Amino acid sequence: MTDDSAVTVTRSEEAFAAAQRVIPGGVNSPVRAFGSVGGSPRFIARGKGALVWDVDGTEFADYVLSWGALPLGHAHPAAVEAISRQVVRGASFGAPTELETELAELIVAAMPAVEMVRFVSSGTEAVMSAIRLARAATGRHLILKFDGCYHGHADAVLVSAGSGIATLGLPDSPGVTAGAVRDTMSIPYNDEAALEHVFARRGGEIAAVIVEPVAGNMGLVLPGANFLPAIRRLTASHGALLIFDEVMTGARVAAGGAQALFAIQPDLTCLGKVIGGGLPVAAYGGRADLMRQMAPSGAVYQAGTLSGNPLAMACGIATMREMARPGCYEKLRQASGRLADGVRESCTRHGVPVQTAAVGGMWGFFFSSEPVTDFTGAKRSDIARFRRFFHACLDRGVYLPPSPFESCFVSTAHGNDVIERTLAVFELAVAAS
Ligand code: PLP
Repeated sequence: MTDDSAVTVTRSEEAFAAAQRVIPGGVNSPVRAFGSVGGSPRFIARGKGALVWDVDGTEFADYVLSWGALPLGHAHPAAVEAISRQVVRGASFGAPTELETELAELIVAAMPAVEMVRFVSSGTEAVMSAIRLARAATGRHLILKFDGCYHGHADAVLVSAGSGIATLGLPDSPGVTAGAVRDTMSIPYNDEAALEHVFARRGGEIAAVIVEPVAGNMGLVLPGANFLPAIRRLTASHGALLIFDEVMTGARVAAGGAQALFAIQPDLTCLGKVIGGGLPVAAYGGRADLMRQMAPSGAVYQAGTLSGNPLAMACGIATMREMARPGCYEKLRQASGRLADGVRESCTRHGVPVQTAAVGGMWGFFFSSEPVTDFTGAKRSDIARFRRFFHACLDRGVYLPPSPFESCFVSTAHGNDVIERTLAVFELAVAAS
């Protein structure tokens, strides 16, 4: 006997099979493959506002938003217009354009600790370059980071911590040599005692501390009240630089990023995502005396064929200008607050332990009975329940990041209707998971 109804292959599944033949794992960035949650990734055909449609025509409310790069949602008219206007003039010149200065001016005006800025094409490049500059400027080698913070895939920051208060980093990936991470240390996020301990032992060797001022890559974990001030105090008193990796938080948690929100002045800042509005733009910037050490005004080398690409600059300018409109960040805050509250309320009704957080246009949750303040806590959350919840949401048209260790995002296009629909899905999904 045969069962004709048994196997239906979706277009997404076909697309994934085809992609796997020519692209490792079928994706160009690992988390897209649904490895953490199981199942087959949806291949996306188009997006508009808060919504995306996959190649099978299924509609989803999107809380990934290109991992935070779309604060205005998909295909915002201002971004579409800016890109269209520029593309007919030429996509890339490899020579300076006024667009670069315009976006740089917007960033310098918005970010309290950024006096000069250099554009690159990815957050990875921004971090790599900021670290090189910090080492050159201080003449020191050590970089201190925090477990669970992601700073891109450059060798020096692909480090997991060993046991103990602070261990020398071990490479997180084959292909990263022990030498490449020998000068990187990693300690737990929000652990001021570990921080004091490392500075007491090795403060004179530390070139820079790099931190996500709001951690968004272990799920959403907020900094404790004294954590960032302690890093600022210790770096300043030991002659080390403070690098805020605001690739995720810059122009997202507030117009001036986390440095404005928490009133802390880092020496260097890494930016990405929002400042390109969905096109490949990232940047590093900071004190002018440091930034002038970059070539060609200084000796520290860094370059890029597509750095400051005109199409990307045009989209970034349009996005930053729209984000500067009154009420924009308030709208994001309200939306992310309602979503985080909604998850908490549904979980409470169903007796499911949960921790939630929201800041600016980011929000997140852990299925955990304990507050989550670091990566160890994040990993202790109920991962199996997350997987079930994720799929229960996906099946009902809500597209969350496919990993318990990612933040969720909102855009200004997430109006009441989408949010209400999402909250109703959360209620059903908590019950189903
Ligand atoms: N830094 C942070 C805080 C990030 O969230 C990311 C990416 O998610 C990066 C750096 C790396 O950026 P990119 O993926 O553009 O290389």
